[in-house]
Amino acid sequence: MKGQPFIMVIGLEVHVQLATQSKLFCRCANRYGEAANTLTCPVCAGMPGALPVMNREAYALALRAALGLNCEIPTFTKWDRKNYFYPDLPKGFQTSQFDLPLSQNGHLEIIDPDGVFASKRVGIIRAHLEEDAGKSLHDEVTGKGDSRIDLNRCGTPLLEIVSEPDLRSAEEVGVYLSELKLLLSYLEVSDCNMQEGSLRVDANVNLHLQQDGALRATPIVEVKNMNSFRAVGRAIEYEGERQYAVWQETGRALGDPGVTKETRGWDDAAGVTRPQRSKEESSDYRYFPEPDLPPVVITHQEIQAYRDLLGELPADLRSRLMAQYNLSAYDSDVLVNQGRPLVDFFQQVADFSGEGKVVSNWIQQDVLRFLSETSQTIAAYPVKTDTFAQLLQAVAEEKLTTGRGREVLAKMVTEGESLEAAMASLGIAEVDTEETEQLCRELLAANPQVVADLKNGKQKAVGALIGQAKRRNPNIQPGQVQEICLRLADQM
Ligand code: ZN
Ligand code: MN
Repeated sequence: MKGQPFIMVIGLEVHVQLATQSKLFCRCANRYGEAANTLTCPVCAGMPGALPVMNREAYALALRAALGLNCEIPTFTKWDRKNYFYPDLPKGFQTSQFDLPLSQNGHLEIIDPDGVFASKRVGIIRAHLEEDAGKSLHDEVTGKGDSRIDLNRCGTPLLEIVSEPDLRSAEEVGVYLSELKLLLSYLEVSDCNMQEGSLRVDANVNLHLQQDGALRATPIVEVKNMNSFRAVGRAIEYEGERQYAVWQETGRALGDPGVTKETRGWDDAAGVTRPQRSKEESSDYRYFPEPDLPPVVITHQEIQAYRDLLGELPADLRSRLMAQYNLSAYDSDVLVNQGRPLVDFFQQVADFSGEGKVVSNWIQQDVLRFLSETSQTIAAYPVKTDTFAQLLQAVAEEKLTTGRGREVLAKMVTEGESLEAAMASLGIAEVDTEETEQLCRELLAANPQVVADLKNGKQKAVGALIGQAKRRNPNIQPGQVQEICLRLADQM
């Protein structure tokens, strides 16, 4: 970041829970929020002798995500045991992937809508499948300072997505995470619900600084326990400042004797990171090949078949909306970032009315506001696309002003009324030409200066009369008032 005496270097490990029906190696349901230890069996509870069987759907979803991240997909991938002891892991090892992950060498393109940084390509080192552990509940059940274990989450399929250390600021991290989450939701591989732990982020952070003309780097810190994108941003900002202060004090750098990686936990309430443990090296885990599961072998044809089923992903969709509906980069970004169902809504209305930009404006101003105020999704929006298109048609034909159109839409939304009913209940009727002409005569008679201006060719002067006409009769059609006033003034 500008003005800072260091460059922040950040790589992310994102764990995403895949939206399968059942767990990765057993038939227990993969569901959140059930009573503790009700979704378990001998396999996921780690009973001796229980044998795992791979869930094909978990592999398929992982492959979809990896292809969406532009990863290379090896035709051979295998499972490994990552050994460690923790009470929420009864097997004593996590079945994961070590040296032959299911995907590697991908990238995700990020664009900063605020223009703080240029678009960049964030490298994906690898994305691999592994099982989740259970959950320790400290004090949560009895409040009496005890610890209990819930194994419902044990064996849930996780995709671990490891980025290159290509990110340089908390802002870039925020955009990367949003884009990753959006991509995964378009691919329908995960609900990415951070509150429920479906998406968890660990950040590896350190600083590059100049010292006597040489490039030095502070020790790498892995920050854990961040429960929202906002927390991730705050933790990274904090860690940058903290590491710089420690550097100024000690001058200790990566490569110095005794310098090891460190794991720190983010304390959101206190706004600080705290030391947890010195970070394990992978050799500490004594990885070895899983003897109970066969490797997965896939053909190039099968991989291509998965690639063909990916569907339209956010980056391509943004470009297409711009080209097809003549939208600005900003507008297409706003729509695409809302998710596929909203884009479909937009396209259906725009295909009816043929006015992409106008439809996009109405959606951004009226529909998105309603959805955010009511915490609803577009699926629950009370106005269907054909009715919405009819309303915009009426506005385009100047049967309604934009302002009146808004009132009609609000009525349709809150009362669930049809377009006709909403217009009727607002007293909006088509005003006949004779009535309009009568009103125009009165206005011209009362405004001799406007008449003089119009006769002198100042056609803009008619605006004042349109304003007055709308106040006298809100249902009047402004286009008609303009046309009649110009014609009558000409004859005066
Ligand atoms: Zn099970
Ligand atoms: Mn992992």
